[in-house]
Amino acid sequence: MSTIENKNGSKPAVNAGSIKLAQSASYNKLKTNNSEWAAKCTAEDPEFFTKLAQGQSPEVLWIGCSDSRVPANEVTGTAPGEVFVHRNIANVCVHSDMNMLSVLDYAVNVLKVKHVIVAGHYGCGGVAAALSNKQFGIIDNWLRHIKDVYRLHANELDRITDEKARVNRLVELNVTEQVYNICKTSIIQNAWMNRTDLEVHGWVIDISSGLIKDLGVSSSNPHSLGYVYEFDNNTEAVAAH
Ligand SMILES: [Zn+2]
Repeated sequence: MSTIENKNGSKPAVNAGSIKLAQSASYNKLKTNNSEWAAKCTAEDPEFFTKLAQGQSPEVLWIGCSDSRVPANEVTGTAPGEVFVHRNIANVCVHSDMNMLSVLDYAVNVLKVKHVIVAGHYGCGGVAAALSNKQFGIIDNWLRHIKDVYRLHANELDRITDEKARVNRLVELNVTEQVYNICKTSIIQNAWMNRTDLEVHGWVIDISSGLIKDLGVSSSNPHSLGYVYEFDNNTEAVAAH
């Protein structure tokens, strides 16, 4: 196979001919599916992509697990443009994660979403791994955050003898703690000082039924946060020191 030449005839730094292109059925299927999906959308609504290209105004930010079985739109029956999405392994929300903070800030302050949903799922491999003593590689550092959730609730979790049930309870507790973490951010607290229409919720998806369990931990103000986490809106006090 010959190398690819640029318009000016020079050879690129990478010899494209040396790259073995993926031609597996699963890969090709993606392209076929895409053409069919685009054609179907246009057939149902000739203006579908014209409208989509004009911009987005989703009312929901979904923070979910990267697990391939829990896609935000399919689970909630929503269309493109309706849900802003951030996903990572085991839906962890850490206040030092610039990726998550950037998504949250943009969603809350630019898109003005009304609902932030942290969505875990039963049988989460990340949570199960965090409950084990095995090493899995770099991910161990990420899963440490979930081990910390376990430590906070060890008394309850250690009383559950069934391993699957223990993982699933930690899934619920992890979602609850991540909701709490989202509420603790200055992004959410500052938004709450000016808005009454912003809520943070915690859900768990049951993959065996497809149904969502609302954990009932929704928040729309900072008053349930511990004293040390709640910011006041007087920034002058800091400037005075
Ligand atoms: Zn998961």
